[in-house]
Amino acid sequence: MAGLYFHIPFCRRICAYCDFFRSAELKWLPAAVQAMHTEMDEQRDFLCDSNIRTIYFGGGTPSLVEPSQVQLLIDHAARLWDCSQVGEITLEANPDDITPEYVAALRSTDVNRVSLGVQSFDDEELRFMNRRHSAADAVAAVRRLQDAGIENITIDLIFGVDGFGEQVLERSLAQALELDVQHVSAYHLTIEQNTAFHRRLERGQMRIVAEEQSEREYALVHRRLTEAGYEHYEVSNFAREGYRAQHNSSYWHGEEYLGIGTGAHSFNGRVRRWSQQPVAEYIAERRYEEEILSEQAHRNERVMTALRCAEGIDLEAFESRFGAVAKEQILQAAKLWIAQGDVVVSERRMRIPTERFLISDAVIESLFEV
Ligand code: SF4
Repeated sequence: MAGLYFHIPFCRRICAYCDFFRSAELKWLPAAVQAMHTEMDEQRDFLCDSNIRTIYFGGGTPSLVEPSQVQLLIDHAARLWDCSQVGEITLEANPDDITPEYVAALRSTDVNRVSLGVQSFDDEELRFMNRRHSAADAVAAVRRLQDAGIENITIDLIFGVDGFGEQVLERSLAQALELDVQHVSAYHLTIEQNTAFHRRLERGQMRIVAEEQSEREYALVHRRLTEAGYEHYEVSNFAREGYRAQHNSSYWHGEEYLGIGTGAHSFNGRVRRWSQQPVAEYIAERRYEEEILSEQAHRNERVMTALRCAEGIDLEAFESRFGAVAKEQILQAAKLWIAQGDVVVSERRMRIPTERFLISDAVIESLFEV
């Protein structure tokens, strides 16, 4: 089974923390969507497994595309690949695009899951991040989708923002719980190069939050959401039972995916391919960079994605794929973490307890084959 990803690389306004591949030149949007149809035809043979299980519209801001255009892309995909078993079609949306007209049009498409970029339910924090919606817009967007019968809604939240501590986070979490969405993705802010936050950091106008503050906020997110019945199933992801993100889970489980649109990535089990062309170039002609994954890269990737998930590494499957020596190596490398309780080995699995996920990057890096 494979995933199909459409990247819509346009935004009306650039958020202060964002280093995603996106453009504010909306004049190119119609031609870029047209080029995505052409790219699908060009890429029809990339996947080894052409059974599509999930479709995901990410960005950028996919809700800048008219729902009728979204459906045309879905229909085109169904003519190229077997989409008869597609269970989840997600569209990322900005809360202020979720007007009554937009929701009505969306209901006539096959989209059955909406991912809202809420980030915070605090107006001051939203302004600080240069988001273009208010907290009230976000609440209204969720309710509008729910009233229209969309039963699978996920929201993104950001924590670890300098100047906005646990009280603000607590209020955002309380609002998320009151809205009773099916899924929450909660990310710790990272300040990337070439972002407004990075420039503020260099000018001394903002700070990276202290480690203890990060730990407290992470613990708060984990506690509030798990106490409310959400399963903490991946480092940044929480789901009501039966509502794990299927498309993202397929990335974490090493399944194939095809990305369409400039800024999208693809993987067919052997080759990783991506395009990072300026939109105008992409419209004229698609070009890619490629990497053929080495055995070492496959192994490290398996360690990374598996340990970010609650189930961890299936040691038996790991051994049959990478050999007994490789299994012994990761068990040896994890010894100290195991002694500290940061890694648990039981029932043929090696995993990081969910309340210790915050240090997963350090654990994972130490288990890499170099
Ligand atoms: S965070 Fe999302 S909406 Fe904001 S600039 Fe980045 S891609 Fe666009």
